[in-house]
Amino acid sequence: MARLADRHPDNVDGAWFVDMRCIDCGTCRELVPDLFGETGMQSVVVAQPTDPAAEHRAWLASAACPTASIGRSPRTPRPEHLFPLAVDGPVSDLGHCSEDSFGATSYLVERPDGNLMVDSPVFTRRLIGEVDDRGGIAHVLLTHRDDVADAQQWAERYGARVWIHADDRRAAPYATDVIEGTATADIAPGVSVIPVPGHTRGSVVFLVDDRWLFTGDSLAWSYGHEDLVAFRGACWYSWPEQTRSLDRLADEARFEWVLPGHGARVHLDPDDAHARLRALVRRMQAAA
Ligand code: SF4
Repeated sequence: MARLADRHPDNVDGAWFVDMRCIDCGTCRELVPDLFGETGMQSVVVAQPTDPAAEHRAWLASAACPTASIGRSPRTPRPEHLFPLAVDGPVSDLGHCSEDSFGATSYLVERPDGNLMVDSPVFTRRLIGEVDDRGGIAHVLLTHRDDVADAQQWAERYGARVWIHADDRRAAPYATDVIEGTATADIAPGVSVIPVPGHTRGSVVFLVDDRWLFTGDSLAWSYGHEDLVAFRGACWYSWPEQTRSLDRLADEARFEWVLPGHGARVHLDPDDAHARLRALVRRMQAAA
């Protein structure tokens, strides 16, 4: 629950506020950029909701926040069924981000041959019933070591297989399926994994139906740059390696959606997506 006594002084006046426990994960700003912005190294409310739709978006940010830093005064009950939040077709944002993954976004992909969970939200009552209603989870796909969060609890509830790369496996020793090397591999009908070492040594992306690319912290959209970006300041293993990985990704993948853990998601024309990824790689090579 957000703490009114710790309300950040830079919030605009009004009911909604962010408290000083914000860890600057960016999730609220990526999810609801019209209401939340950054000041210093934290987020604040930059515009108060003025209609029911905007109020609903503020509640989404509140439910996604990993530190429960977003609240309103006077308090009103949080609406039920905020997440999963439909993104596109079978893809939903699971919200309920974990502080263990620094607020990374996780996703549910509903599939006739078994649902996918990409990275993990908090294992919370508010979400368990929703996932139950959608048929549970067959595969937990972990993009890298940082975004594991409560994956084990989710996998145990549904008897799901858990996928992670060997080089990040220490974060999920309970994994049932370990991805090796850098070769693209099919892991389920219409689902492939493409290793992209760089952000971490064991980073991978998952491509579903040549449409949805789940990128962890290896590739994202930036509202500020209005383009695809990679996070050099948050590259824990090797920037040159990440550059080569994204170059290889451009060779091997066609996609329309970029769905990251951190950073904004985006839907692009596939040719535009490919051209932007090539251009990003050229910028990374030039800045090496
Ligand atoms: S989601 Fe919460 S922790 Fe993350 S930036 Fe927003 S207020 Fe801060």
